[in-house]
Amino acid sequence: MKYVSTRGGMTPLQFSDILLEGLAPDGGLAVPEQLPQVSAETLESWRGLPYADLAYEVLSLFATDIPADDLRRLTRAAYTQETFNSEDIVPLRPLDGGLSLLGLSEGPTLAFKDMAMQFLGQVFEYVLGKRGTTLNIVGATSGDTGSAAEYALRGKRGVAVFMLSPHGRMSAFQRAQMYSLQDENIHNIAVRGVFDEAQDIVKALAGDLAFKTRYRLGAVNSINWARIAAQVVYYFHGWLRATGKAGEEVSFAVPSGNFGNILSGHIARSMGLPIRRLVLATNENNVLEEFFRTGVYRPRPAEQTYATSSPSMDISRASNFERFVFDLVGRDAGRVKALWESLARDGSFDLSDLKPQFETRYGFVSGASSHEDRLATIRSVYDETGVLIDPHTADGVKVARDFVEPGVPMLVLETALPAKFSETIEEALGRPATPPGNLADLESLPQRVEIMDCDLAEVRRFIELHAKV
Ligand SMILES: *Cc1c(COP(=O)(O)O)cnc(C)c1O
Repeated sequence: MKYVSTRGGMTPLQFSDILLEGLAPDGGLAVPEQLPQVSAETLESWRGLPYADLAYEVLSLFATDIPADDLRRLTRAAYTQETFNSEDIVPLRPLDGGLSLLGLSEGPTLAFKDMAMQFLGQVFEYVLGKRGTTLNIVGATSGDTGSAAEYALRGKRGVAVFMLSPHGRMSAFQRAQMYSLQDENIHNIAVRGVFDEAQDIVKALAGDLAFKTRYRLGAVNSINWARIAAQVVYYFHGWLRATGKAGEEVSFAVPSGNFGNILSGHIARSMGLPIRRLVLATNENNVLEEFFRTGVYRPRPAEQTYATSSPSMDISRASNFERFVFDLVGRDAGRVKALWESLARDGSFDLSDLKPQFETRYGFVSGASSHEDRLATIRSVYDETGVLIDPHTADGVKVARDFVEPGVPMLVLETALPAKFSETIEEALGRPATPPGNLADLESLPQRVEIMDCDLAEVRRFIELHAKV
């Protein structure tokens, strides 16, 4: 399996090569030259597998340059009961009204980013060790990516992490989770700005080829293909747990921001997994909901990106969206390049001519929620089932309810545990959500963070001083 760029300007590379890169040299994103297909027969043969071995089966279709025994060792090291606090790794829990929760938040940072990141930590250390080299991860996070990356890479050999976060825009628990890490290879940088501005700095650094080469910059933000591939696994797992036999269809509802999680659902569906609908849920930052409703992609400027009670979805430019558009326009890299040029020029592009295909061909539907919707959904799910859900998952449940069909299980991806966003739980139910026992005193631990202006030169200097060389 080789990987090409969505904009056509990259010589085909192997999985291990794109693993250590951010954007492709032409500014595009790496995608498989051709998607692997999984037959109904193969799918049935995976039914009894534990999560780690299912992960091996799926990832071996993408990481064809890693020997089978090594890859199996990596997935078994990544997906353990100790790390995920759950024998199933990803438990499936029924709610009411045809909905179930697919529990992606049992990992160390209580959010779904751990699902991909724990594998990434293993495979990074493995590939760097093989190549005898080092890597400096530079990323931007609106909360969960950063902490998941830091927990996956803390103490790993040959890697340092420089994680930019928007100062004052994360929950107290999220801050405590990241900033309390004292490992020497983990660097937290809080910038005075919003997520997209922090992301711009990361893109500028990665776009400076001399700097990127000199300091061996790598990325773990959601454009990293290995993350997308690792997320494909839980769509297969969810389907296998929710169905009894070949061909049965399942729908998934996905709280979305950067379009990373749901892109993996699109990949799984394109590989032949019988997914009926992919229900995309946004909060008030509804760029993606608008696209699937109208066919117009119109990212908002920073000042129109609202701080909401589902903050990990407060994103107006969806980094991974380009990979879906690549498929949508028939994998025509020239057309993708032209679309992103018009995006830079006009601030939007219009694919409404393709809109009839969004649902019929790709299964996509969309909806948005408001703060009031989330509070009401948290309350109603709790009252009806006794299950406490976090505000992001509430976005998913709220939108999913509009698309439930008889006989088709609707799996809502649980993207975080409620304890991570206790302020909102308290607002909804009048009492806080308690963190799992081992994290009870997290917020009282000493924190380690650099606060800076959103300034490229300042961030660059800090990296030069602290990079692994
Ligand atoms: C990252 C995140 C999302 C959004 O996922 P994308 O892959 O960016 O679409 C939703 N909920 C939570 C809790 C997250 O951390």
